[in-house]
Amino acid sequence: MNKNVLVVLSGPSGVGKGTVAKLLVERNKNVALSISCTTRQPRVGEVDGREYFFIDKNTFNDKVKNQGFLEYSEHFENCYGTPKDFVFDKLETNDVLLEIDVNGGLQVKKNYSDAVLIMLVPPSVEEIKRRLIKRGTESEEKINLRMERIEYELNKKDLYDYVVVNDDLETAIKEVEEIIKKEKQQ
Ligand code: 5GP
Repeated sequence: MNKNVLVVLSGPSGVGKGTVAKLLVERNKNVALSISCTTRQPRVGEVDGREYFFIDKNTFNDKVKNQGFLEYSEHFENCYGTPKDFVFDKLETNDVLLEIDVNGGLQVKKNYSDAVLIMLVPPSVEEIKRRLIKRGTESEEKINLRMERIEYELNKKDLYDYVVVNDDLETAIKEVEEIIKKEKQQ
């Protein structure tokens, strides 16, 4: 009997995890994308319960106190968290995919050791830098900050269960699908 698995997909910004996650969910009906809670305001076109569950700071703090999050963190003064009840309800019927940063992923593993952590990495860090410089939309200082963050995330790859190189999109998706298939049988 195959079990349902909780999969965390992380990786530095610009590596294409959004695209991999989206296509994976579209092509595999058994895989559902988790929906996070956030205290930030919805952007134009975002719908409560679709992109995020939009909640206020007090509700968020209560959920933290009641251990309602599998993991949570703060980005630019807004709080984000993965709701435990949503994820575990979904896990009854589906595999669940979380697309969160490396620190979030490691928190999930601590709280739920059956989680499968996959890190998507670029074929070369230098290539990302070259692309950013070529694009010319960011200052040298911003590019350096971004590169520092990328190095920071990549340095944690040994703590992940799997590392998938996103050189060719289709190959990367196939590899993630194979990992899920294998983990479901264990
Ligand atoms: P945005 O506000 O642009 O949607 O997301 C900002 C940042 O929050 C992104 O880096 C995104 O990955 C991160 N994020 C979204 N949901 C969660 C979550 O549930 N947990 C954590 N740790 N980060 C999240």
